[in-house]
Amino acid sequence: MCHPVSSEFQPSTPSTTGSVPPDLPRPTGTGAPAQAPGWGGRDATEPRQDALGWPSAPQPQAAAEPVVEAEPVAEVEPVAEVEPLTEAEESGPEGEADADGAPGPDGELQLGLDGPPTGPGVQSQLAIAPEDGPTNRPLPSFPVPPPLSAHGPARVIAMCNQKGGVGKTTTTINLGAALAEYGRRVLLVDFDPQGALSVGLGINPHELDATVYQVLMERGTDVRSVIRDTAVPGLDLLPANIDLSAAEVQLVGEVARESVLARALRPALDDYDVVLIDCQPSLGLLTVNALTASHGVVIPLECEFFALRGVALLVETIEKVRERLNPGLEVDGILATMYDGRTLHSREVVSRVVEAFGDDVFHTVIGRTVKFPDATVAAEPITSYASNHPGAEAYRQLARELVARGDAA
Ligand code: ADP
Ligand code: MG
Repeated sequence: MCHPVSSEFQPSTPSTTGSVPPDLPRPTGTGAPAQAPGWGGRDATEPRQDALGWPSAPQPQAAAEPVVEAEPVAEVEPVAEVEPLTEAEESGPEGEADADGAPGPDGELQLGLDGPPTGPGVQSQLAIAPEDGPTNRPLPSFPVPPPLSAHGPARVIAMCNQKGGVGKTTTTINLGAALAEYGRRVLLVDFDPQGALSVGLGINPHELDATVYQVLMERGTDVRSVIRDTAVPGLDLLPANIDLSAAEVQLVGEVARESVLARALRPALDDYDVVLIDCQPSLGLLTVNALTASHGVVIPLECEFFALRGVALLVETIEKVRERLNPGLEVDGILATMYDGRTLHSREVVSRVVEAFGDDVFHTVIGRTVKFPDATVAAEPITSYASNHPGAEAYRQLARELVARGDAA
C-alpha cells in the first residue's frame, strides 16, 4: 500500500519535557494519526525561492533553542525488552559504543548523540509488549514473495533524505541485493556525485568513461550501454562519479530540466522489476530529477536525536514535485535505520516517528551494526558479505515488506 503524505501541515507543538528534542513531532489529536500531523508548519505566501526557482517555504526551526534536559520519570515502569537487531558484542561504526559493546558509565550505550544522553535512572514510559515489533506495533509476518514469471516494467523508488549519513546508500545496495535474492531484476542508479553506491559495489567510479552523467547530458547515449553488472546476480548498476556535480549546474539551462533522468531511464524500465535511485544529500535539481523519475520515495531516518530535522522540507519538496511534475509520486515509507534496541533513546525516537507518520513507517527497522561499514569496505552487500547476520535479514525483511505493501513487484 502506498500513502500520499498529507498536505495539511500544522505547526508542531514544541516539547518542553522528555529527552526528545522540541522539533520532533507530537500528535495534535487523540489516537494514532494515519496522516502526519504537526511536523513543520509553512507559510505558502513566503516569497523566498528555492534551488528550482520555486517559491520555497521557510526552513523548519533550526536547533538554536537549547535542548531540554530529560527529567527522570518518578513512576518506574518495567520495559519489556525488544529483540535487538544488532549483535550485543558489536560496536557502532564510529566507535560510539564501546568496542566490546559494554555499557557506558551511565548504563546506556553511548551513541554519540548531539542531544543530551539518556541520564541515569531515566526509565521509559514506552511499554513495548513482547509481541510488538521495534516500532511498537504488532509485527506482521511478511511472506516470501512468489517468483515472477515475467519481468518489468520497473517500479522506480528514490531513496531520499537531504541529510547525509542516514543510510540512503546502504539501503539502496542492501534492499536491492535482497530483492535480487528474491528473483527480482533490480537496477541501482547512483545519483550522488560522491559515487558511494558505485564504490560500495566494487567499482572505482573515477576510472569510468561513461556514467549517468553521459546518459543525462549527452544526447544519444543509451542508458543500457552504461548500465553494468555487479557481482550479485540480478543486480545491475548505473554508476556515477564527480562529473555528475557538473550536471546539476548544466541542467539548469535544459528544457524540462526536472525530467531529464525520467526520460533517460525510460528505455531500461522494461528490463527490470525495481529501480532504486540513491539520491545525493540535498534537495537540489538532481534530487528533483530523481523524484520526477520515481513512482515512490523511501525516506531513511537515522534513529538519533535530530532525526526529523528537515523532513518537513523534504516532504514539501515531494509534494511540489507531485503537484507540478509527477502526479503519481507516493511516499512508500519511512525507514528507521541505525536502530539500537538496547537504548531507550532509539526506542523513543522510533516511537516519535511512528506517532508522526503512522502507518507510513515500515515495520522493519535496520539495526546499527558495524557489519554495514565492513561490507562497504569489502564492496559487497551485507546479504553476501555476512549472509546470516541480522543486518542482512533486516534488509530481506524490508524487501518482503515492500512487496507485501505493493510497492515492489
Ligand atoms: P547516506 O547515503 O545517507 O549518506 P550511508 O548509507 O552512506 O548514508 O551511511 C553512512 C555511514 O553509516 C556509512 O559508513 C555506513 O556504512 C554506515 N551505516 C549505514 N547504515 C548503518 C547501520 N544500520 N548501522 C551502522 N552503520 C551504518
Ligand atoms: Mg549516500
